[in-house]
Amino acid sequence: MQDDALARAWLRGFARAVEEGEEKLTALDSAIGDGDHGINMRRGTGQVRRMLLRDQATAESSGELLGEAGLLLRDHVGGAAGVLYGSAFQAIGAALGDRTGAAQLGDALQAGLDAVVRLGAAAAGDKTMVDAYGPAVTSFRAVCSQGGNLGEATTAAAAAAAAGARTTIPMQARKGRASYLGYRSIGHLDPGAASTAMLFRTLAEEVK
Ligand code: ADP
Ligand code: MG
Ligand code: MG
Repeated sequence: MQDDALARAWLRGFARAVEEGEEKLTALDSAIGDGDHGINMRRGTGQVRRMLLRDQATAESSGELLGEAGLLLRDHVGGAAGVLYGSAFQAIGAALGDRTGAAQLGDALQAGLDAVVRLGAAAAGDKTMVDAYGPAVTSFRAVCSQGGNLGEATTAAAAAAAAGARTTIPMQARKGRASYLGYRSIGHLDPGAASTAMLFRTLAEEVK
């Protein structure tokens, strides 16, 4: 990231997407969880929005800004997603620091995924946000290693996250609240995977 403009735009775009998608995320969580994912996420991204308005120019780098957002998400989203999203953004921020460039962002996004997996211990196929985040990072880094630019990497990541989220529909949940439902979790889109698809979609939108 050249300066923190992209990080700001991404966080703002994600907050907007969560606001617009709040009801959808909550409906998804009502089907296989406790019906609060949209509310939870909106509470956190609302705080991020306020932070962006407040300290217009205080963050030293993109990494610092994303890390601050992570703290707010961790403290205000609540539930499983609060810890997971919060830690992901903190790890992304710490890994990115003041580095710029597509490959560096790819490495930072990988660090975010590693944090989610370390904390939540979900594997691919467990019907969680990892099923969207994992393919997104793999695609992002594959495009970078083939010499692709930031626009190409984020576009590929957004498509992979959306496709990955859809793969959760036929899965039986093995992590999180949805796992309590056993086979009855089959046939529903995982809410956390849906919000993660929003995360990567908004990143691609802000790069263009
Ligand atoms: P809660 O389940 O505490 O109400 P949310 O509804 O906000 O929290 O978030 C639920 C989402 O969190 C799930 O849809 C799933 O994607 C994600 N999630 C839950 N547990 C895990 C886990 N162990 N690893 C990865 N993601 C998880
Ligand atoms: Mg919930
Ligand atoms: Mg809850």
